[in-house]
Amino acid sequence: MPFFIPSQYKNKNMEWQAFGVAERFMRYVQIDTQSDPNSSSFPSTEKQKVLSRLLLQELKALGFEDTEMDANGYVIVTIPATVELEAMQQNQPPVICFCAHLDTAPDCSGTNVKPILHQRYNGAPIILPDDPTQIITVDQYPYLKKFIGREIITASGKTLLGADDKAGVAILVSLAAYLKAHPELKHGVIKLLFTPDEEVGRGADLIDFKKLNADFGYTLDGGALGCFEMESFSADQLILTIDGVMAHPGSAKGLMQNAIKIAADIIAALPKNHWCPEQTEGRAGFVHPTHIQGGAEQVEIEFLIRDFDTAQLAVYEAKLVALAESILQQNIQYNRSSVKAKVKHQYRNMKEIINQHPKMVDLALAAYKKAGIEPTIEPIRGGTDGSRMSFMGLPTANIFTGMQAIHSKHEWVGVSDMQQAVQVLAYMVEIN
Ligand SMILES: [Zn+2]
Repeated sequence: MPFFIPSQYKNKNMEWQAFGVAERFMRYVQIDTQSDPNSSSFPSTEKQKVLSRLLLQELKALGFEDTEMDANGYVIVTIPATVELEAMQQNQPPVICFCAHLDTAPDCSGTNVKPILHQRYNGAPIILPDDPTQIITVDQYPYLKKFIGREIITASGKTLLGADDKAGVAILVSLAAYLKAHPELKHGVIKLLFTPDEEVGRGADLIDFKKLNADFGYTLDGGALGCFEMESFSADQLILTIDGVMAHPGSAKGLMQNAIKIAADIIAALPKNHWCPEQTEGRAGFVHPTHIQGGAEQVEIEFLIRDFDTAQLAVYEAKLVALAESILQQNIQYNRSSVKAKVKHQYRNMKEIINQHPKMVDLALAAYKKAGIEPTIEPIRGGTDGSRMSFMGLPTANIFTGMQAIHSKHEWVGVSDMQQAVQVLAYMVEIN
C-alpha cells in the first residue's frame, strides 16, 4: 500500500523517537478501519483486518514469531521473557497484556485520512488545508499550549485523524521494536492484543482469553499525558412498560386510559436539576431516558441507569419505578393502568475487579513516576472495553496515549506524548 509520508518528517536523536512511533502512527491512520454499529457481522467491517494483517506482518518481521491473527481480526503477539522464568520460582513476573483497538469511530469519516506533521507548532490557529473551516486553536484546546515548539499531528480537514486508537497501536508496536533492540532489558512474558470493533462496543466479545493467558492488562486508549483510568460507571438499562386501557375514542369517556399521556407525565416528573446527564459531572450518577416507543395502549420507555457505586443502581431503579407508580396513584383517571420495569445488566465499574489486583496499579504508577510523569486518576463517565474485559477475567486499566479531540475532524496528538507512553510501558515491564 502506498503511504503518504510527510516530507518534513525526520527522525531526531532522542532514543524513544528512534523507535518510530510517529512514523508508524502516520502509516496506520491512512488505513481506513472505521467500524459500523449497524453491521451484524464480526468484525463489523472487513477493512479492519487490513490493519490486523499489516500488524501481523510487521511484528513477525520484528522477529516475534508467536504472532497470530484469528478469523475475527484479533491479533495476539507473545513477547517472550528475557529472564529464566523457572529459576524465579515464586517470584515469577506477571504476564502483562497491553491492548489497543484497531477500529476508528463511526461518528466521522475515516476514509483517505491524510496525517499532517506540524514539526514545530507555533501556537497559531491551525487551519486544516482540505477544509479551511476546520480550525484548531489553543483557546478551544488549552492542552495544545504544551506543544508549542514541538511536534503534533493533525488530520487534513475532511476526516478524523484516528489517534483513537492508532496512537495506542503505534505505541504497542514501538514497544515491541524497543524491546527487540534491547534484549538486555529484563522482563517477563508480555502479550500484545489488538482488537476490532471497540467503538461499537463489541471489542471484548470474542477475545480468546485462554490463548491470551495474561494476569492483568492495560488498554492504551487514554488521553492526556499522565491519565490513568481504573474506574468506569456501573451501568444498567431499565425498560419501563406502561399499559393503558384502550377504547374506541368515540365512546371512551370514563374508559380510556392513554399510555402516551401516562408516559408524558412520568417523563415530565423526572428531576430536571439533578439525576440527569445534563446536570451532573464528576462522580454523580444519573437516570437518562434514551428511547420511547408505543401507542395509546402501551408505551415502552428505555432508560440508562449510571453510577460509580453499583449498589446505587438498584436505588435509582427503585426510585424510578416509585415515581412512575406515584403518577398512576395520584391520578384517578389512570386507576386501571399499570407500569412494570425490566432491568438489563450492562456493565460494571472495573474498579471492583482492579481493587483485587493492587499490584497492577502500583506497577503502572511506579513507571509513570520513573518517567517523571504526574499521574491523573479520574473516573471514566462511561464504559470501556477495559471495564468489560475486567469482568471477563482480565483485570484491565487504561493508560494515556496523548489523543485529543477524538471522534472529530479536529483530532490531534502530540508526538512526545506517544513517545512517553512507549517509555512508560518499557518501565512497567522491566524487572529491576
Ligand atoms: Zn478508543
